[in-house]
Amino acid sequence: MSYYSDHYDVIVIGGALAGLSSALMLAEKGHKVLVLERHNLPGGIATSFVRGGIEIEAALHEMMSIGEKDNRLKVGKFFDDMGIDIDWLKVPEAYHASLPGLEVTLHPGFETFAKEVDAAVPGTYDKVLKVLNLCHTVFDSVNELSIHPMSKAKMLMNHEAFVKTAGYSTKEVLDTFDLPKKALDLLAPYWIYVGSGFSELPFTIYAVLMADYVGYGSFIPHKFSHEMSLKMAERAEEMGVQIEYRQHVDKILVRDGKVYGVRTSRGDEIHSDYVISSSYPNNVYTHMIEPASEVPKKAIKMVNGRRLSLTAFSVILILDKSAEELGIKDYSVFRGDTMDTDKCYEELAGLGPYHYITCICHNLANPDATPEGTCSYSITTLPRVDGWKTVKAEDYDKVKHRVANQLIEYMNDYLGFDLRDHILECVIETPMTISHYTDAWNGCIYGYAHTMDDHIVARLQTAEEEKFIEGLEFSGAHQISGDGMGPAVTNGRKAAKNVLDDMQRKGATA
Ligand SMILES: Cc1cc2nc3c(=O)[nH]c(=O)nc-3n(C[C@H](O)[C@H](O)[C@H](O)COP(=O)(O)OP(=O)(O)OC[C@H]3O[C@@H](n4cnc5c(N)ncnc54)[C@H](O)[C@@H]3O)c2cc1C
Repeated sequence: MSYYSDHYDVIVIGGALAGLSSALMLAEKGHKVLVLERHNLPGGIATSFVRGGIEIEAALHEMMSIGEKDNRLKVGKFFDDMGIDIDWLKVPEAYHASLPGLEVTLHPGFETFAKEVDAAVPGTYDKVLKVLNLCHTVFDSVNELSIHPMSKAKMLMNHEAFVKTAGYSTKEVLDTFDLPKKALDLLAPYWIYVGSGFSELPFTIYAVLMADYVGYGSFIPHKFSHEMSLKMAERAEEMGVQIEYRQHVDKILVRDGKVYGVRTSRGDEIHSDYVISSSYPNNVYTHMIEPASEVPKKAIKMVNGRRLSLTAFSVILILDKSAEELGIKDYSVFRGDTMDTDKCYEELAGLGPYHYITCICHNLANPDATPEGTCSYSITTLPRVDGWKTVKAEDYDKVKHRVANQLIEYMNDYLGFDLRDHILECVIETPMTISHYTDAWNGCIYGYAHTMDDHIVARLQTAEEEKFIEGLEFSGAHQISGDGMGPAVTNGRKAAKNVLDDMQRKGATA
């Protein structure tokens, strides 16, 4: 007997945050949805695992777009609206910046943040607050325009700051504030979360990042990122979504430019007029469309024309003492030898040594993260995919251990003790781990790089032209809202909305 019905309204490839968000939204509108996930559990990168009896977060440092219970931002609101009750914990600080000549801890809230920058670099309060307020204005515009597209004239009238800054890089806009270098350095650490140096990073992206994280703070689920995935999957099933695990989708079936189903690697052919793919367009257009003759040349041009962004390399340690005993004071530390983001970006093209990293000690936001008397400490750098593509199988182990040791030593210098003397468990995640686990193209977790030639505003305008196959939508970091767990939810919802709009259009013309 087949697991499957004869026909589904929508098939979703991938049961992680993006795919499950699509499924939830479609099920809410009463549609019959099938989610096919290659693993035996939901979540993709939003997962955890157990070593030595201790549960270990696989990835999450902090979530954006959640907000406090009484002032939810879009992702937090989506969970609430869907009846998914996540036990959110607020991360205590924005970050500790450990940069040449600067050791500064900054907290969320624009005024607090500006005051703390001012304490480190006197005389900068007004200008820093002005930068943050500009970020907030642009953030509000982006949120409104992503829901209510409007004419250029109207946009100019109602969203002047957005329009005026949209064509400029982060560097160009920040330079106009004439801030001392040290203050600019303190405004830069989050850059790595969007993965482009400031000369290339559109100011719009920087503004959204800063307004969200600094303005509203960040959050983590009490039971790790897997709390989100598990509860989303559970809720989706309650709402009638069929989720099948251990089902790898091999092919997306297309006839006359239109999707009509998928085939799994087990050989099941399942039918639907809509498929939402978490898998990268690179993978879909080069390997998955059947027959390959249905792949339009423009689709190949599109994927070849886009630059892949960053992947991740993480050393996750469980240590034999509490954070307090070890003198670890900050949840989140960004450490670099320079805050010249363009230079840092160049370094990320190689295989290390890396001199820009982000670390977290989970216990400082979640005291229950590990058993009493221990703590977890993770050291992450986010290299570009370029270097890691060149590692040969026979060299992999050597490169992996060399990079992990370099990162540990880099943090030993900062912490003032040798982390290696305290290790209970050590897990090393490389771009290959990510690629094997989620099938992310080249292990890329950030989708396509945000650059001045190819950015969110331009992508919004070309979105319709990039629908090469009828009924095929994409969700995941490779889509409009970009990388991260919060954006994965937004991308999943956007893909579902595109399907719903198309169904409505077709219904109206039927
Ligand atoms: C070390 C690390 C740290 C991170 N830190 C943060 C952070 O602090 N904050 C943040 O917001 N984000 C962070 N991220 C990024 C974030 O985890 C991802 O952007 C997000 O989880 C992506 O979700 P997704 O649903 O788009 O894709 P994925 O999690 O990649 O899931 C894709 C899913 O699709 C399935 N799949 C793929 N192909 C197929 C197929 N053919 N058939 C069936 N199933 C398929 C996969 O098995 C997987 O479950 C981090 C990532 C890493 C690696």
